Amino acid sequence: MSLTATYRIAPLIVDIARLHFHERVDSSEILRLPIPSQDALVANWGLLDILGLLLSSNEGQTVATRALAFTWKASLATVTDDVDLFLHYMRRTGACLSGGKCLSILDRAATWTAADWDFYCPHEGFDSFCLFLLHQLDGVTTHHTDWYGYDSNGNPYSTDGICERRRIRTDRATFDVMRSSSSSAFHPIAYFHSTLVMNYITADSFCIAYPNSTLVRKIGLIQSRQLRPQASSALQKYRGRGYHFYREARQFIAAPSTECLPHGYCTRTRRFFGDKHCISVTFGDTSTSTHVVGSRLTTSWVFGGVACTTACSAVLLRHHAESVLVGTSD
Ligand SMILES: [Zn+2]
Repeated sequence: MSLTATYRIAPLIVDIARLHFHERVDSSEILRLPIPSQDALVANWGLLDILGLLLSSNEGQTVATRALAFTWKASLATVTDDVDLFLHYMRRTGACLSGGKCLSILDRAATWTAADWDFYCPHEGFDSFCLFLLHQLDGVTTHHTDWYGYDSNGNPYSTDGICERRRIRTDRATFDVMRSSSSSAFHPIAYFHSTLVMNYITADSFCIAYPNSTLVRKIGLIQSRQLRPQASSALQKYRGRGYHFYREARQFIAAPSTECLPHGYCTRTRRFFGDKHCISVTFGDTSTSTHVVGSRLTTSWVFGGVACTTACSAVLLRHHAESVLVGTSD
């Protein structure tokens, strides 16, 4: 198994992570420790410290990558006895974890945990992933919602990027499995109520779309479009966990009113999972990740709403998300 991480981390987060790490840790001392002692030490660190270690040296990267993979596998071990088989099916179907459970795993400083496991699948991978949970984990479907609606031509559609949902209960967990309306599992994530939960973990990687507000400031920007009624109770749940929400990024980012908001917070910025504003890290078996279903697809979005300055655009944009191909050069 390859332990070299591939990553793209927003420059602001690189600075914060380095500072976090160097203020607290003597990296040369850690690297002199035997591997089990290294792992035991790093196991209790927050994500920013681990990213600081990742960025510190090649050896630091190895220890950090091992810690990220370990945490993810330890989380999955609470729901299955065969973590490798679970990861195999995640790769085969392109399924990723998102929502509250995902945030609680990524924000290692989180003191709360979510009950349900929300998995998002590419349109093509949904049935296979559900069958895996039903047959291999002895799951039972307790709730099944088919298409949310039909357009005038009788084709299924969804305004939230989801077109089917199956709730599967096993004796160890409740899984909510969502079928993306496109070949990108991330498509529904671009429609979430706020930036706080616009994160995912695949079999071998994770992505945090708004890392500074999510990890450092524990706040979220609420989508400017009309949200579904369920969204307000979801927001309330996160408020109870200590997070704060804002309707406009200008309420939490001090930027000169003539300039567009930095770090991708302008509601008119075209963003995508894996862009320069995200934290994207591949920590798993990098030799297999190119075979993961949908690994060359990502989702881009524009929050929509009014412009943050007249320089951005005077035209009112609607919220918008679409699948885009990435990394097709190799
Ligand atoms: Zn702007």
